Amino acid sequence: MKRIVMKFGGTSVEDSAAMKRVAGIVLAQNCPERIVVLSAAAGVTSQLLHAGELAAQGQETMATALLSSLRTRHKGIAEELLTSSCPSICATIDSWFDELDDLAHGIAILGEATPRSFDLLASFGERLSSLIFHAYLKSLGHAAELVDARLFMITDAHYTHAVPDLGIIPATLDQHVIPALRRGAVVVTQGFIGATPNGITTTIGRGGSDHSAALIGSLLEADEIQIWTDVDGILTADPSIVPDAHRIKVMSFMEASELAYFGARVLHPETILPAISKNIPVRVLNSRRPSSHGTAIIAQADTSGQCTVKSIAYKEDITLISIVSTRMFLAHGFLENVFDVFHKYRTVVHTVATSDISVSATINDTGRLDEIIGELRQFATVTAAKAKAIVCVVGDNLRNSQGIAARVLHAITSVNINMISQGASEINISFVVDEGHLDTVVRLLHEEFFNSRDINREIFD
Ligand code: ASP
Ligand code: MG
Repeated sequence: MKRIVMKFGGTSVEDSAAMKRVAGIVLAQNCPERIVVLSAAAGVTSQLLHAGELAAQGQETMATALLSSLRTRHKGIAEELLTSSCPSICATIDSWFDELDDLAHGIAILGEATPRSFDLLASFGERLSSLIFHAYLKSLGHAAELVDARLFMITDAHYTHAVPDLGIIPATLDQHVIPALRRGAVVVTQGFIGATPNGITTTIGRGGSDHSAALIGSLLEADEIQIWTDVDGILTADPSIVPDAHRIKVMSFMEASELAYFGARVLHPETILPAISKNIPVRVLNSRRPSSHGTAIIAQADTSGQCTVKSIAYKEDITLISIVSTRMFLAHGFLENVFDVFHKYRTVVHTVATSDISVSATINDTGRLDEIIGELRQFATVTAAKAKAIVCVVGDNLRNSQGIAARVLHAITSVNINMISQGASEINISFVVDEGHLDTVVRLLHEEFFNSRDINREIFD
């Protein structure tokens, strides 16, 4: 590999021990061009934003106390990592926190924090972690350059949700990042933050660092983008239910998207789309256990057909609503009327199964359930069953394999199934069961599809 982008999340840079591990990981990469994208240390973004809220509510003393604890935390990390460069880095940290104190004071005077001031506040988190990490790499005798993301991540002015300008960024990357790479330096920069063309600080949305890394990697045509977090990658099932769940070595973007919806919290697939669309693999890795190879997410499904089911996911706390039309004959517009009601009460419907006169639908948010049922009863008989779970079997090759549904149902004959559906993407089979049966169902299915005797070791660990 010639060029990689490595993004480290908040827990990977939360203290000096974590930063040391990250340096070890970066320096161990046998790749000439490395771009390191950092998040703020764990919790810092939220605390900076909270300081802004406190100041806006007139609680300036509390805001300043919070900022002062962050100052101590960052100086502590710098002191533990650095020796000769420590005084100058700590002086910079002090000057930045003086600026933050001024900012809090200004907000307190105004009694209001604008989205623009929140972005400026939040930007210090990433700037601090990257400042310290860069100094640490250099103290180890390594060529490294700190490139402020606000020089190249040019965005619009939608503060707190700014959109990167893909028309401009290739040129700014050429100007600010490529020369440093040519000089042989490891480039250290920030995720999440950017600037308008006029240089006003913006952020691209909470959790935006993955997206920053994917954009940088895709525009620089990196060979791989690594997202370093604190889990081993994506697993075949929730390890709290199936302790011997396997790590999935490689999966497609579509599979990752289906799983994300079921709460595989590792990363939000949408954020890595720029990389996927350029066919750049995105690898999810564990900075606490760098020897684990993580999960690679790639554009294309494996079509070898060797592996059909990739993972078993679930969602708890589901309410199943059964709606049967009371009209004597087949009324047109029945489905439309049903979904209008959910829409009116802004309630997301997850899975549905329908016949001519009936619909089963699952929802998670029951805040408006009484109103929804009231309206549906004007044209249908309605029952709602709470404490259900959706279990979902995901895999690209479900699309062209026979007998999978039969295997699924056969594996769980002991359990009553309330509803079955196969998504239009044809890469998942979902069904609804009592929450009380959830653990049993997930374990039985895991044993059926991932028993250690005949699992495909090319795809699973
Ligand atoms: N530090 C930012 C946040 O916590 C961005 C990120 O971590 O991705 O939202
Ligand atoms: Mg974060």
